[in-house]
Amino acid sequence: MRRISDWGNYPVIEAETSGFDSVEQLRSRLAEPGELIAYGNGRSYGDASLQSRVVLTRRFDKLLAFDETTGELTCQAGVLLADLLDVFVPRGWFLPVTPGTKLITVGGAIAADVHGKNHHVDGSFGQHIRSMDVMRNDGSIITCSPARNAEFFNVTVGGMGLTGIILQATFRLRRIETAYIREETVRAANLGEVMDGFEAPGEWTYSVAWIDCLARGDALGRSILMRGEHATAGELVNPSHKHAPLKPGGGMKLDVPFMMPGFALSRLTVQAFNAAYYGKCRSGTQARIAGYNQFFYPLDSVGNWNRIYGRRGFTQYQFVIPKAAGREGMHRILERIAASGLGSFLAVLKLFGEQESFISFPMEGYTLALDFPISFKAMELFKELDAMVADYGGRLYLAKDSRMDAAMFARTYPNADEFRQAVAVLNEGGTRFASLLSRRIGVTG
Ligand SMILES: Cc1cc2nc3c(=O)[nH]c(=O)nc-3n(C[C@H](O)[C@H](O)[C@H](O)COP(=O)(O)OP(=O)(O)OC[C@H]3O[C@@H](n4cnc5c(N)ncnc54)[C@H](O)[C@@H]3O)c2cc1C
Repeated sequence: MRRISDWGNYPVIEAETSGFDSVEQLRSRLAEPGELIAYGNGRSYGDASLQSRVVLTRRFDKLLAFDETTGELTCQAGVLLADLLDVFVPRGWFLPVTPGTKLITVGGAIAADVHGKNHHVDGSFGQHIRSMDVMRNDGSIITCSPARNAEFFNVTVGGMGLTGIILQATFRLRRIETAYIREETVRAANLGEVMDGFEAPGEWTYSVAWIDCLARGDALGRSILMRGEHATAGELVNPSHKHAPLKPGGGMKLDVPFMMPGFALSRLTVQAFNAAYYGKCRSGTQARIAGYNQFFYPLDSVGNWNRIYGRRGFTQYQFVIPKAAGREGMHRILERIAASGLGSFLAVLKLFGEQESFISFPMEGYTLALDFPISFKAMELFKELDAMVADYGGRLYLAKDSRMDAAMFARTYPNADEFRQAVAVLNEGGTRFASLLSRRIGVTG
């Protein structure tokens, strides 16, 4: 038995853990009856990969095939996106979709159907999967794709590991000329301005805003909107960049070596940090060439930054509300968060593009993600926010959640009941895929 948690260190549980190097080994693990769930790299925030018995997937991490002409890659599901970038960026290829950390597995990316800064143009990670192999609870392997075993494919993408263990996947990487991003940063004085920025014609491939969720009044929603494109070789100016255009700078630099005491993160420190960050960005539009690590993964440069929140842990409240309700809804929700004074460092705002899927989180609309240290007051606030999110037709992201109840899930995910039934059918037999998350939100009994 060992103590495990996901990224928010809430909850922390005792679990029996085991990895596997081969399909046969995994099959023998599944032959033992009881409940279990796949654990990728534990970068979901709550309890999605927690259970008294977990199967660690990280050792199952081989690259199986790559087509240099099309960028089509087949790899095992335990490989980290970080490892793919290390191998393929120097060869001129990038991920089709990446979240704000590269320290996640391909299996975790599919199971949560993760989104990135290009969702409005390229959709979610799952929309790029051409085919995948999944081991079911009886040890059989299903090959599925949008055309083959499509129902099973659709319930597995975004299905949070509840249909089986994803073994391998095939998807296409995108061509890049350089490891750099041409970035434009715009300071927005309030929520209206940043939303205008998101909705302005002339699409950028990547866009996201850091928003100061403690600012109030006329400054409510003041933000820094960041947009980017992969830089072409001709756009590089720095001689060292030009000399090695596919060699990025900036990896891991700092580390938080131990859990910080609870008082380190007070409202005042957060307010000061947010004000300094906002003030650092001059008004108007700034342009620069940034390494891809700086642009996509600023948080990865501080190892174990989750320890800043101390032993009590933290959670991320991420919701989406439909675009039509976005302006009013986001305004009201932000007002409530700012008044509570509970939100922490800069929150992330993004406009998603359209997405039709069975159980995935994204829908066309505004999504806001912000971290909260675990506290009774925060839990009380979330209940109020849940009601507002649901009233505006929105929902919460399962990969970030550690406290939503079954009623909220049933009310906000249109296919919640069909999903529960599908998982029940797939779970018939000895072994059942279930997590603390699936039990809490009523998907498994
Ligand atoms: C700093 C940070 C930034 C983030 N930014 C974003 C973002 O911008 N966009 C976004 O969408 N997400 C974001 N996330 C969330 C993260 O991308 C997802 O939670 C992702 O699923 C984590 O993958 P993992 O490999 O760590 O899997 P885990 O967290 O271990 O597991 C996540 C889920 O995937 C399932 N799973 C894992 N491997 C398999 C497998 N082989 N077969 C079947 N099921 C499997 C687990 O059972 C679980 O349900 C962020 C997380 C962090 C810490």
